[in-house]
Amino acid sequence: MNKKHSISTLAVAGVQKLVPYVPGKPIEELERELGLSDIVKLASNENPLGTNPRVAQAIQKTLPELTRYPDGNGFKLKVALAEKLSVDSAQITLGNGSNEILELVARTFLTPDLDVVFSQHAFAVYPIVTQAVGATARIVPAKDYGHDLSAMSEQINDRTRLVFIANPNNPTGTLLQPDELEAFIKALPSTVLCVLDEAYHEYVAPDRRARSIDWLRAYPNLIITRTFSKAYGLAGLRVGYSLSSLEIADLLNRVRQPFNNNMLALAAAETALSDRDYLHRTVAANAAGMQQLTVAFRTLGLEWIPSAGNFVSVDLGRPALPIYEALLRKGVIVRPVANYEMPNHLRVSIGTERENQVFITALSQVLNAI
Ligand SMILES: *Cc1c(COP(=O)(O)O)cnc(C)c1O
Repeated sequence: MNKKHSISTLAVAGVQKLVPYVPGKPIEELERELGLSDIVKLASNENPLGTNPRVAQAIQKTLPELTRYPDGNGFKLKVALAEKLSVDSAQITLGNGSNEILELVARTFLTPDLDVVFSQHAFAVYPIVTQAVGATARIVPAKDYGHDLSAMSEQINDRTRLVFIANPNNPTGTLLQPDELEAFIKALPSTVLCVLDEAYHEYVAPDRRARSIDWLRAYPNLIITRTFSKAYGLAGLRVGYSLSSLEIADLLNRVRQPFNNNMLALAAAETALSDRDYLHRTVAANAAGMQQLTVAFRTLGLEWIPSAGNFVSVDLGRPALPIYEALLRKGVIVRPVANYEMPNHLRVSIGTERENQVFITALSQVLNAI
């Protein structure tokens, strides 16, 4: 047995079979590969408005402090979040992106003899954090691309410790009815935790939103996760958080690294949270861009999954990978979702009006050429 082989067999079983997360292709990588400039990236559900100038200012102001450790408790950001969301700041756990929260939950609550339930086409990080700790994923077939909550309920048994629900879901954009969702959470055994991943919450029309924070009082097994990466435009800084019962927050806090959020990120998030105007412009630009893209899809005779997020998955009616690659050659990066069992779809993030138009033009040229 060669040494390399023997080392990999030492990894826990889940990790040996783990397939790494594939991020959207970075702009610089495509520039290097094709020698193109002026690339349009609509692949990672990023905020297209660019860095918020007020955030840039807050970061500038913090720069002289970089020799210090950041506040390991994120005191100021938690106070600001607590006030805005009407929760106790001790219910908040800050993460290096909400991704880290998902991982903290897995490390805190899962063992190899436990199961995790989530939907087909759900966010790709759920299987990764589940397998990494050796737990078993029970993946429930989707219904019309969305979570089938009654089928998910049926998968819950004595081995189940955790359910992941993304609402809206990525990459489908599907949104659950608030009352159905609450009934599902209410019916969970008290030994099963529910992570309700609301990474796209701010994009959901107010009248369609679940009042999930109100549910925390009634359901001590509920963990809501949110992020500054999407509507607040801070994907590059990595700040997310969870809202939960005090008991859960205390447990997650024991597992997390002492300084998991850096100083610049904390200052940026606090400023971003207070900037209503940037958020409003983000949500308005998203609604307009969603309209722009879906009108174009209709014109091109393409179907799409109605989305409550800042992205939309379009059905090309044929394998999407060659079209993805042809778009790359035109300098447009979108996201193939075959790894989500959606081989005929491309997920397109909503960009600026100009970026959307560049994508639409490229897509119609590519489709015409076939
Ligand atoms: C983008 C995304 C996240 C969050 O990512 P972070 O940048 O780590 O906060 C979480 N869940 C879903 C479903 C997402 O699409």
